[in-house]
Amino acid sequence: MRVTCLPPLIGLLLMPPTAPASPAATEDAKTFVAAHEAKMRPLDVKAGLAWWNANTTGKDEDYKLKEEVQNQIDLALSDKATFAKLKALKEAADKGEIDDAVTARGIVVLYLMYLEKQLDPELMKQITAKANAVEKKFNVYRAKVDGKELADSQVREALKKSTDSKRRQAVWEASKGVGADVAADLKELVTLRNKAAVALGFKNFHAMSLYLNEQNGEELIKLFDELDTLTKEPFLTAKAEFDAKLAKNSEVAVKDLMPWHYHDPFFQESPAVFDANLDAPFAKADILKLCQDFYKGIGLPIDDVIARSDLYEKKGKSPHAFCTDIDREGDVRVLANIVPNEYWMGTMLHELGHSVYSSKNIPKSVPYVVRGEAHILTTEGVAMQFERFSKSLKWLGEMGVKVENPAAFAVAAEKVRKNQLLIFSRWCQVMLRFEKAMYENPEQDLNKLWWDMVEKYQGLTRPAGRNAPDYASKIHVVSAPVYYHNYMMGQLFASQVHHAVARDVYKGADPNTVTYVNEPKVGEFMKKKVFEPGRTLDWRGLTKFATGSDLSAKAFAADFSSK
Ligand SMILES: [Zn+2]
Repeated sequence: MRVTCLPPLIGLLLMPPTAPASPAATEDAKTFVAAHEAKMRPLDVKAGLAWWNANTTGKDEDYKLKEEVQNQIDLALSDKATFAKLKALKEAADKGEIDDAVTARGIVVLYLMYLEKQLDPELMKQITAKANAVEKKFNVYRAKVDGKELADSQVREALKKSTDSKRRQAVWEASKGVGADVAADLKELVTLRNKAAVALGFKNFHAMSLYLNEQNGEELIKLFDELDTLTKEPFLTAKAEFDAKLAKNSEVAVKDLMPWHYHDPFFQESPAVFDANLDAPFAKADILKLCQDFYKGIGLPIDDVIARSDLYEKKGKSPHAFCTDIDREGDVRVLANIVPNEYWMGTMLHELGHSVYSSKNIPKSVPYVVRGEAHILTTEGVAMQFERFSKSLKWLGEMGVKVENPAAFAVAAEKVRKNQLLIFSRWCQVMLRFEKAMYENPEQDLNKLWWDMVEKYQGLTRPAGRNAPDYASKIHVVSAPVYYHNYMMGQLFASQVHHAVARDVYKGADPNTVTYVNEPKVGEFMKKKVFEPGRTLDWRGLTKFATGSDLSAKAFAADFSSK
């Protein structure tokens, strides 16, 4: 989902002011920001439109145009002389010499954006080539069992349906085979990424990536430690329940369950073992109308977004879903492929959640360079906050959706919701900690490190004697490095803001009973407390401003202990 047209933002702890504000520095900063805007704004809009056209039509010429515009943007941002000027202004901002907080913030935002493009071009080329080579190996790899190639969907099918442990093991092991194919390349890629980061003055690539996103490793580990403590028991309780079902399905003892007894290769999803047809209530529902009514009812109408959007399947179109802000002037669009089921109800609530947190609701008085979401985690958080209602019986009832067997739906939906969030949170622990350790020391025994993490956080049993680069079979480690934690933090943000809405708008109501339906004060709260600051606040500042506290795992964990 593309929700941002600038790289995710920034926000280092600003140094305490050591110098008085200087009118000259403030003027220079304003001039720089204005020059940036004049040059980049038309390119941003052009890139946004090209990207939209490419995804809705699938035409090569649109993809080509998008790439060309992106190259122009990258070229402008990598300019050495411009960056030198910007760096001096960033230092002035850190010292408190820029007299205007929003301009100072704009300088920080721009600094991080340009900094990312200062990597040695020769190294960048090598990194891109290596990453492409690895991706290609992923694309052509097919798991092979008994001499027969299996498509990805067949691997998933076998892990979902087979009751034969031997077959499951063979399929699971075959699906991991790509790890051995790419492990050496991945190691070179990690070395190259680290080299590029060190050249810019960072400890390693992981540290640099976090810095560019206004995050740091120690702080993240502290947050994830808290999350670990709060989710461990609920996770183990939930796991015991579906482990019993998984064991029964494969006719093994619970203590003999192995990683291949779960329903996906990484145990990142909730196993489909509960008799629940969550799709039934949506089979005859008008998903789009439900969204229009819901958002209108909370005072955040989205009819203009719908009018510009491309919402149903067609040839050549991207099969995914995303929301994009084309011009930061309110031209916000959603691409989707709606079919009447629970997945698309949740997805549409999610994407339209992004759409209301955009230039639609961030005032024009917020300058262009900071007129966007505070951070990728805050916009994902808002989208997740709304998405969760597709599994709420109370919400469905209040929206007038008929549910045939409400008691069964409520139990199943609640279970799936909790299990998904818990399982995903444990999986994110593995991803964050493994990647951090890998970039800090790529020479260590990564095969062992991976299974140490999987055992500790996901509660799986390491297959006896297994010594294979299983981490390398996860494409995100290659293609979307140092990113997963933002989804998890988005979930924490979603819970924390939802609890603040229950507290402030619903006067302390139990968050589990709060559905937002027909309550325009929810929209008012979201606008004032979450949307309107745009990027003038970083994610830390926005979380505190919206909820009164720093981002923590408490509200998220409370969502598991209440029932
Ligand atoms: Zn999203």
